Amino acid sequence: MKSDPTHKPELSPWDKLDLLVKETRHFLDEYDDIVLHKELYRTLFMYHLTILRDEVILLLKKFTTLPKDIAEEKEIECCGVMYSDKDAFKQHYEDAHNKKVLQSASLCELKMSLTKIAFFERHLKDYLLDGQESSCELLLNLRRILRRLDHTLEF
Ligand SMILES: [Zn+2]
Repeated sequence: MKSDPTHKPELSPWDKLDLLVKETRHFLDEYDDIVLHKELYRTLFMYHLTILRDEVILLLKKFTTLPKDIAEEKEIECCGVMYSDKDAFKQHYEDAHNKKVLQSASLCELKMSLTKIAFFERHLKDYLLDGQESSCELLLNLRRILRRLDHTLEF
């Protein structure tokens, strides 16, 4: 990962926090647009949003104790089967749905949405690794994102 040009080791922990807070704010602002096609591409969104949800929860756990009303694991229904094991769901997704949907999707908007989700997820992952500070706004935004993800994942 050393060759990653977006990696900025010179940033202070507070600068990094500031950037992530901005990303969470931005993600919340765009959320409705991002999940606009969720009915059409249900499995695809379920897959990516579930992965994102895990990152949000891990980040919340890094800086707080999770409130009891937050379920760490979410059951996902796909092709008539309930998956409580995320790896099993991911395996099923790879086997049954793979990237076919994405290849056939000519919708630029869909690809934009998935790019935004992946971009935001990468920021969360980076912060999980080397983020040191948290703030009320960060935690509040992460909880908001989690609530919206849960709402979307219920479809
Ligand atoms: Zn399925």
